[in-house]
Amino acid sequence: MSAKLILGTEIREEILEEITAEVSQIKAKYGKVPGLVTILVGENPASISYVTLKIQTAHRVGFHEVQDSQPIDISEEDLLALIAKYNKDDSINGILVQLPLPKHIDEKKVLNAIDPDKDVDGFHPVNVGRLMIGGDEVKFPPCTPAGIQEMIIRAGVKTSGAEVVVVGRSNIVGKPIANMMLQKGKGANATVTIVHTGTKDLAFHCKRADILIVAAGVPDLVKPEWIKPGACVIDVGVNRVGEKISEKTGKKIAILKGDVDFEAAKEIAGSITPVPGGVGPMTITMLMLNTLKSLKFKLGIN
Ligand code: NAD
Repeated sequence: MSAKLILGTEIREEILEEITAEVSQIKAKYGKVPGLVTILVGENPASISYVTLKIQTAHRVGFHEVQDSQPIDISEEDLLALIAKYNKDDSINGILVQLPLPKHIDEKKVLNAIDPDKDVDGFHPVNVGRLMIGGDEVKFPPCTPAGIQEMIIRAGVKTSGAEVVVVGRSNIVGKPIANMMLQKGKGANATVTIVHTGTKDLAFHCKRADILIVAAGVPDLVKPEWIKPGACVIDVGVNRVGEKISEKTGKKIAILKGDVDFEAAKEIAGSITPVPGGVGPMTITMLMLNTLKSLKFKLGIN
């Protein structure tokens, strides 16, 4: 039997429509819309395309969006001054600095200079701490883990009491999603195991998982025989394994593969996310949700 597909492409549309409706209600009542600034340093093509997509999405949902492009040789001092300016700007609710930054700039210093109440990426140590505490303390869960949890909720997967196994312990995916799944609350209350490069028997742990979340960045790391029949499999991995010519545009595009052997796994799992079209589209969507939340916190309407 083939697993139910959990499609980020569809869930994204639902959430963006909900955000658009809420933005217009807030605008009508308070005369304000969420403001998002994206700071781009230099002209890295991948960064330009990420920023463009973020700005286009912000525009689509009715935000006030600012793209602030800075030259590659901007000094750290000037970049910090720019962040200080947006920290004070009342029309801006979310500040996003596109990474990577050039080598002469201390990335950590820059990210830590963002006002935690405008840190819609959720990477500031204050927001990491808030996430750890959980409950009402959480303001901005980091976007990819928040997207994963939202997909699990909207797919109707039972999490309370479930065995969740997370493959990977990065600060942007593995650690935060593990932390979110163990909190007492909606889409959580699970028993969580994190496995990583130091784990002795990866297969043993994966086989126990009712919900298997894989964020390792290794194509086909998870074998079909590691999947418990009926499990929910969330494949976060995005691995470029080659190139092909797009049928739509005729241009060269990357062939992407997840961390799970999808074709075989979908015959065993109960539900599964594909790559591409699974977790990927959720990250920018949750960035929009965090920016909306930021304005709502400010207006006291949560
Ligand atoms: P990372 O390299 O920072 O972390 C990978 C983690 O996986 C590490 O903690 C490592 O211990 C673990 N790992 C690696 N190989 C392993 C192995 N053989 N056995 C057990 N554990 C292993 O990566 P990341 O930033 O967390 O990203 C992981 C993957 O998710 C990447 O493919 C990345 O492109 C993708 N990703 C996708 C999105 C999205 O779709 N929106 C967002 C973030 C990351």
